Formats: sequence, structure tokens, C-alpha cells
Amino acid sequence: MPETPWREAITAVRHRAMQVLTPGAGFTLTYVDTPQPRPGQVRVTVEACGVCHSDAAITAGDVPHVTFPLVTGHEIAGRIEALGDGVTGWGIGDRVAVGWYGGDCGYCDACRGTAVMCTEPQIPGLAYAGGFADSVTVPAAALAPIPDVLSSAEAAPLACAGVRVFTALRQSAARPGDLVAVVGLGGPGHLALQFAATMGLRTVSIGRGHGDAMAALELGADIYLDTKTDDVGAALRDLGGAAVIVAIPTNTMMTCAAIKGLAEGGQVIVLSTTGTTLGHALPGPKLEFGHWGGTAHDTRQTLEFAARNGVRPWVEQMPLEQAGTALTRMASGQARFRMVLTTT
Ligand SMILES: [Zn+2]
Ligand SMILES: [Zn+2]
Repeated sequence: MPETPWREAITAVRHRAMQVLTPGAGFTLTYVDTPQPRPGQVRVTVEACGVCHSDAAITAGDVPHVTFPLVTGHEIAGRIEALGDGVTGWGIGDRVAVGWYGGDCGYCDACRGTAVMCTEPQIPGLAYAGGFADSVTVPAAALAPIPDVLSSAEAAPLACAGVRVFTALRQSAARPGDLVAVVGLGGPGHLALQFAATMGLRTVSIGRGHGDAMAALELGADIYLDTKTDDVGAALRDLGGAAVIVAIPTNTMMTCAAIKGLAEGGQVIVLSTTGTTLGHALPGPKLEFGHWGGTAHDTRQTLEFAARNGVRPWVEQMPLEQAGTALTRMASGQARFRMVLTTT
């Protein structure tokens, strides 16, 4: 959509940002100065930004070393608006996504191996102002190109929830034909079902109640199990046992039920931005690992895989100003299945 002169006038100097002034204070629409990108940075006009569980924790002040006021948001999709000195390989107008990985320090031990584990990660919303705004200015290293077939609202959730589940599944022990159980049907869960099914895995969706059963099957699940009425562990064992269980920390009770159906040598993957694990919940010597997501390169691969194979986030879009309502819908589990804020 062409920008109005009014909008150009605003973004040239100042832009809208949904600031959180103090922990738990909710969002305040603020007009903030739009910075010029420094060397190595780019400025991106935000078209869409997904609402992640981490945003609830960050805005509540539950994440260490967070300083307020802040602008959260790390599932960003938009267009490059300005390039800092020394940025090569990108052009004005390029469609790009930025996720939880928003850059790294470049010199710690992790950066010499897997940069996503950097000890000084540049997470949008924490290290610098995030995507609940008209504009973000980020390191060029954080950018992933968006394939043409994905809208910005579709691309945004793939930059955090998507890359997290896709990378976790790719690094897991599951191989085509193996049984994978996905606990919960929220933002990460509904994407995990699609990625797992597309990868040729036998996919079981585990939920609570039967309200989401049809959606789970439509998203690619072979079977839906209801923790209210089914003995999930026994059902998974009858199917041969799950090679991998994909879980998020907020679904611990459902995950515990599913773990009883883990195959010998199976894995439990906990998708967590904070490295949270289930700890004592695992009976016996099961392998468990947390998963943070991936680098901008992983995000690029996630977007390309999704584009080629028909994996699409199911999103509910809301205008930027309704960030508070969107966060509440996400946190209460009402979103089907990802809330996305839009700026136009
Ligand atoms: Zn996230
Ligand atoms: Zn580092």
C-alpha cells in the first residue's frame, strides 16, 4: 500500500511505538525519534510484528537485566528503509524479517561456534527497541529475506515461533516416519504440527478438550489426543512411542502426561527463550534439551521451507495501537493461533 504524505512526514522524524514505561504498566502509544542507522545497521519499516509469550514476560519485567521504558517485539516483518555505512548485500525496499536473534557480540566463544547462544545476544525489545512500532533499527546481521509468497503477517511469526520449532525438529533425533508428539496448539504448536507433517513425520497433536481437534487435523496432525479424556501416555505407546515430544514450558501438565509415551531413547524438546527446562518432570534417563531458536540464517531457511511447502501461520491481525488487547488474547490462549500487530 503506498504511504501517505502524512505517514512519510511522521516516519522521517518520529514514529509510533507502543512503549511500556514500567514493569506491568501496559502499553502507551508514544511518538519517538526515528534514528539514523549507524554503521552496520539498517532501519526497517515494520509492517507486521507477532506477539510472543516472551513479550508478556519482558513487559512484565520478568526477564533479567531489562530496563524500562522499553518497546518489545521480536517477530518483525517489514521493508528496509535506510542503510548504515558498510552494509552490503541489502537494498532499500527489500522485504526482511528479524526474530529473537537480533545480532550478536561477534567475539564470545559462542559466536565462534553457534552465534544464537551468544552471551551478549542483541535481542530486539531487550538490547534495542523492538517491533511494536512503525520502525526498528537493527544490525544487518539480524536480517533474513522474506520470500515473495509470504505476506508480512505470515512471515513475522516464522521469525521466532517458526524458526524455533523448525530448527528444533531439524536438530532432533526424529527421522521421516518417526512419531512426533506436539503438546499444545498455540503459536509454536500450530507451526510445529505443520513443519513436522511436512517433514514426513507421523504427527500427534496433544491438547486439552476437543475444541481444537479439527484445527489440529487440518494443520497436519495424524491423530489428536485429549489429555482430559485420553490416557495420552498409553496411546502414544500403542503407536510405538514418541521419538520426540515438542513442548513449551507453559504446558507442563500436558507434557508430563505425554512423556509417559516417549519411546526408548526419545527426546523432549522444550521450546523456551529463557532456557527453561522441565527438570524433575522427566522420569528415567530421557534426553531433554531446551531450544532457543536460530540465527538469521536459520530464519531464512525457515521462511524458505515454509514458502516452498505451504507452511503458513494462522494469524489474527490487530492494529499496532491494540497491542495490549493482542497480548492479553495471546497470554490467555485465545489466539488462533498467533496474534500479529500491523502498522497499516
Ligand atoms: Zn518469541
Ligand atoms: Zn557473542
